Amino acid sequence: MTAPGSTVRITLVRGDITEQDVDVVVNAANSSLLGGGGVDGAIHRRGGPAVLADCRRLRASHYGKGLPTGRAVATTAGNLPARHVVHTVGPVYRREADQSDLLASCYRESLRVAVELGARTVAFPAISTGVYGWPMDDGARIAVTACREAAGPPLTEVRFVLFDRQAYEHFARALHGTG
Ligand code: ADP
Repeated sequence: MTAPGSTVRITLVRGDITEQDVDVVVNAANSSLLGGGGVDGAIHRRGGPAVLADCRRLRASHYGKGLPTGRAVATTAGNLPARHVVHTVGPVYRREADQSDLLASCYRESLRVAVELGARTVAFPAISTGVYGWPMDDGARIAVTACREAAGPPLTEVRFVLFDRQAYEHFARALHGTG
């Protein structure tokens, strides 16, 4: 699926983020950068020890206290088909506090880092919608809006990789107004 009328195509696929043959795969990391469950676990499993070694170097240098929420940083992609992994830390969903801008920041900052790396194609998971509890409909709307606003040349494709049918349908609604 592709949104018409933009220079950067925003596409949706159902599947596994670790299988995407793109320049940059974005990881829904936690601030420790040392691995976790969900997307993070899958990326470290498939990417192998080179990804963790780079993360450890980041913790030992610029990010001694961890990567702050809403920020993004790049490592090698190790054994993944992608060229780089960009790790970003989504906010944990809290009903009593609006953290939408922090979630949007994950998408904006990841795209900024991807452009710095010379990427043309970037694949995102639905950040914060797993263990971090963000409702999928709202998470999809924030993701699509942030990427529409922030993605420009030299990027050619921003791909959302959705693990299940329900996630895919929420993203389709956010992108096209239909599901
Ligand atoms: P967070 O901690 O930011 O909520 P999770 O990794 O727990 O991140 O989940 C983010 C989203 O990614 C969830 O919707 C989850 O279903 C989905 N997901 C989990 N594993 C994969 C995968 N291998 N590829 C794509 N999406 C995945």
